[in-house]
Amino acid sequence: MWARSVTSRFLRSRPRADEPPGVSHVGRPPRPLGDVSRTRGSRTMSFTPRTKTNRVVVIGAGYAGMMATNRFLGSLTEEERSRTVVTVVNPKPVFVERIRLHEVAAGSRNAVTIPLAWLLHADAEVVVGRAELIDTVAREVLVVSDDEDLRLPYDYLLYAVGSFASTAIEGAAEHAYVIADHDGASAAAEAVRALPPRARVSIVGGGLTGVEIASELAEQHPELSVTLYCAGELVAQMRPAARRSLRRTLERLGVRIDEHAEVSTVVPGGLRLSGDRALDHELCIVAAAFDVPDLARASGLPVDEAGRLEVDEYLRCIDNPAILGAGDAVVAPQSVAGHLRMGCATALPMGAHAAHTLLAAIRGAVPRELTIGYVLQCISLGRKRGYIQLVRSDDTARRFHLGGRTGARVKEWICEMVVDSPKKESTQPGAYSWPKGPKRRAVTGAGSQSGGRAPVGARFGPEQHASYPVLSDRSRAS
Ligand SMILES: Cc1cc2nc3c(=O)[nH]c(=O)nc-3n(C[C@H](O)[C@H](O)[C@H](O)COP(=O)(O)OP(=O)(O)OC[C@H]3O[C@@H](n4cnc5c(N)ncnc54)[C@H](O)[C@@H]3O)c2cc1C
Repeated sequence: MWARSVTSRFLRSRPRADEPPGVSHVGRPPRPLGDVSRTRGSRTMSFTPRTKTNRVVVIGAGYAGMMATNRFLGSLTEEERSRTVVTVVNPKPVFVERIRLHEVAAGSRNAVTIPLAWLLHADAEVVVGRAELIDTVAREVLVVSDDEDLRLPYDYLLYAVGSFASTAIEGAAEHAYVIADHDGASAAAEAVRALPPRARVSIVGGGLTGVEIASELAEQHPELSVTLYCAGELVAQMRPAARRSLRRTLERLGVRIDEHAEVSTVVPGGLRLSGDRALDHELCIVAAAFDVPDLARASGLPVDEAGRLEVDEYLRCIDNPAILGAGDAVVAPQSVAGHLRMGCATALPMGAHAAHTLLAAIRGAVPRELTIGYVLQCISLGRKRGYIQLVRSDDTARRFHLGGRTGARVKEWICEMVVDSPKKESTQPGAYSWPKGPKRRAVTGAGSQSGGRAPVGARFGPEQHASYPVLSDRSRAS
């Protein structure tokens, strides 16, 4: 049980030598944050001010937030560290390996959470709570948790709140499971376990996430009848040979693929497709789109249509350089980010780049422009198969790919690497590297109309639903 007291929410991240992996550090004597005001009702308590001068608050301990925190703290000199405090705000004291959530939903794994205390730099302080508002005038973040509200002052802020599954399809929130967070994936797993043999399961979304869920489920539960509904063609963003290969694997696993079948409504015990086709099922999982938290918009920060924080080429908020952004919840200019897609493959280099911009800020140095290129896209197709597509730096497919068991092994290695790399940054800052992006693009066409910002998933042919105009199906790869 996570303790609920105020003090227990300030967790030091250094693991004790006598603790096995997976043990939380809630019981550890807390180290109060300096100059943090905690508010209970109308009463505000202030702590003795710190002598430290750089107060950095990181909102979100996902791939981007973890990488940024560790690389930043790991890169500081002793002197810089003595006058810097980094506070990471996250709703839970654990990191969620989101790219493995379909494994949880299908029952291949029980849990994919790792205590933040084991992953974050020893000097990072963790506040377990949800950031509700960024007060840019007072330079404070209002954090709400189960029993109390806090105001965390900042000199620099990193916005890394990620994304969650959209439930824009009518009835999806009430009658379907979404697996973009750990609770959703665990709930889906429980529901799957309770299904009778030969039960019908609908997976909504013919993009990469939908394919991963459908194949994992069909492999782990061959007794179920799994149908994958695609609004257009199955993984339309991939090259024809890749699509054929994925289709063959899905069919071998017994997954029925229903293309050009746009789901308009999920109802108890079934769904309706546009054109009024009605189909029954015992369980439905929606994997059609990602949405981003509303925090930036609610805080009056500049956001695009989808609610992503608008940042410049250095990942600084376009009208507030004290605020930086990285990961799924931000949008950078088309010129440097036109080819980027939501994914941990983007969140990690963005987090590392944000750390560089932060370092430049506290050192009074000139920041570097963002440049991110890709090497591959990879999809798991159950535990025994995978599909690895080599891509150019701008994410367009090369001819070469790896499939089958080799593909599965590469995918598994990547799943481990995306956790190990940010962890390693605490002690070996700069160990993680990534390819340069394509040449800087001129801002023309759609990009210029949207203020030169990169549209989410533009390259990958989003699996969109008419009722949800902006966000794409997950357009990602590792
Ligand atoms: C099933 C599945 C499979 C995937 N597979 C792949 C893959 O193979 N390759 C790939 O590249 N991508 C994949 N993705 C996408 C990838 O997981 C995301 O793109 C990635 O997690 C984004 O990283 P992030 O750091 O921006 O956000 P996240 O990892 O989502 O982390 C954001 C963190 O911020 C926290 N947070 C949110 N709001 C607040 C708040 N108000 N206050 C405090 N904290 C907050 C969240 O709880 C979370 O801990 C997959 C996603 C899913 C769901």
